[in-house]
Amino acid sequence: MKVIEHIGQMQETSRALRREGKEIGFVPTMGALHEGHLSLIRRCKEENDTTVVSIFVNPTQFGPTEDYERYPRDLEGDSEKLRSLGVDILFFPSVEEMYPEGYSTYVEVEGLSNHLCGLFRPSHFRGVATVVTKLFNIVMPHRAYFGLKDYQQALIIKRMVRDLNMDVQIITCPTVREVDGLAMSSRNQYLSESERRSATVIYRTLLRAKEALERGEDFGTVKTLMVETLSSEPHVKEIQYASVYDPESLEDLSQRQREDYSGSEVLLAIAVIIGPARLIDNMLVRLRD
Ligand code: AMP
Repeated sequence: MKVIEHIGQMQETSRALRREGKEIGFVPTMGALHEGHLSLIRRCKEENDTTVVSIFVNPTQFGPTEDYERYPRDLEGDSEKLRSLGVDILFFPSVEEMYPEGYSTYVEVEGLSNHLCGLFRPSHFRGVATVVTKLFNIVMPHRAYFGLKDYQQALIIKRMVRDLNMDVQIITCPTVREVDGLAMSSRNQYLSESERRSATVIYRTLLRAKEALERGEDFGTVKTLMVETLSSEPHVKEIQYASVYDPESLEDLSQRQREDYSGSEVLLAIAVIIGPARLIDNMLVRLRD
């Protein structure tokens, strides 16, 4: 596996690969790799000639009181995992090279960024859209892979690529879970043993909400059920959001008639604070006709 730290060298390498007719697949990550990341990388390997993975803990997507400094970093362990999967290139740029003195250009996806996580992390998606744009310009991939665990992020990236006519195909991959249902996340490392046990309430809530939707309950009732289930767990310090949403616009549907969505999909989504960790999860559910 080739490790590239400099932007110019990555661009030169991608240009050469493209000249040779190679299809480049790209998986952007912030490292502390787990099975969720690895599932994206495996899919990328299957569908492309060359697989590039980036590890970059992007400061512009963290708020001033968030966990940028303590975000887990494990370059050695990550490199080992990437090597054993047969990744071709690890791109590992420095913050100084990505955001030099005087850096002043940002990408904003309006509308979609003002729902769900955007309400609690005001400049988060601007940071994500900006860094992904930069990484696309550097890696020049044919395809890029994103996890549905971060549903809103994937939706925003797809909209950005469409709106800005970026020449890259966005591929979304299913959420990988621990055996007890907790969605894998680098932030799960922050949890104590008892907080980790409590965190299973998130997936339980999604399953109960799905069952309720399948029983024919209305959206308002399902939202109440979700909030009640999450609140029953003492380690849940704060419920930032938990409801039924339109999967395209991300509008909260709790005041809407479920008949408007019969035969269509709706999104169940949750963000909670458990101990020191902010955890998110979601599930798409198709309603009966
Ligand atoms: P991150 O390192 O958290 O920025 O995540 C990098 C990529 O991995 C993003 O596209 C995430 O959506 C994806 N990802 C993170 N956790 C999971 C998971 N449990 N299952 C599937 N994809 C995931």
